[in-house]
Amino acid sequence: MQEQLRQLIELQRLESEFQVLEREKIAIPRKLKELEKDYEQFTGQLTIKKQIFEEGNKEKRVFEQEIRELENQLSRRKRRLLEIKNNREYQACLREVDSIKREIKEKEDQLLELMTNLEALSEEIKSGEKELETRKEEYENKKKELEKKASELEKKLKAFDNKRKKISKKIEPGLLRKFNFIKDKRNGIAVAPVDNGVCQVCHMNIPPQTFIELQKNERMHNCPNCQRFIYWSRFGLESEEAKK
Ligand SMILES: [Zn+2]
Repeated sequence: MQEQLRQLIELQRLESEFQVLEREKIAIPRKLKELEKDYEQFTGQLTIKKQIFEEGNKEKRVFEQEIRELENQLSRRKRRLLEIKNNREYQACLREVDSIKREIKEKEDQLLELMTNLEALSEEIKSGEKELETRKEEYENKKKELEKKASELEKKLKAFDNKRKKISKKIEPGLLRKFNFIKDKRNGIAVAPVDNGVCQVCHMNIPPQTFIELQKNERMHNCPNCQRFIYWSRFGLESEEAKK
């Protein structure tokens, strides 16, 4: 097989692997950001619950104070009842006692409802805090993992780049320029195998005459549709075999 074509195939193979690694590397900062966002969202929700709990406790203290005051009023009225001689005044005071009692009952009911809510909220906060610990650990582990992966990818990319440079040197400058030009214009792929007369990248048929010439493998050919360098897929297999 033509030596230059063999180098182009190898260069393309490296190029494609390089692109996969690079995409992985690019995805890492985004993944980190997502992790961070999830974590922050959870802590934010927990903080809101804690604020609601605080407010609820303040409200509870107000209710308790109000009930104490009403109870004081009630005992004052009850003492007065013992002192009143006038029947009309007595009846009026009795009505006041009843109304204060009703008010106390209402406040107590409200307080009870509030306390039930606060208790449930307190449980939610407790389990939220537990979950937060787990999430924090997970978040930090994943973050470390991703950072490690990023530095590994960086090393791999460097190694690939070195290999790429080495192979590039073996390719005639004009051919290499064309390779890079096609690669940039055609989604990072400049070399395509042809199987059964079909370009395996753009999936168009190549003329039968070209396919025959391709099998003879005497000169470079390009796909008439996508312009990529083409080779008979069987040669590609041979070159894969040769590497093993
Ligand atoms: Zn093509």
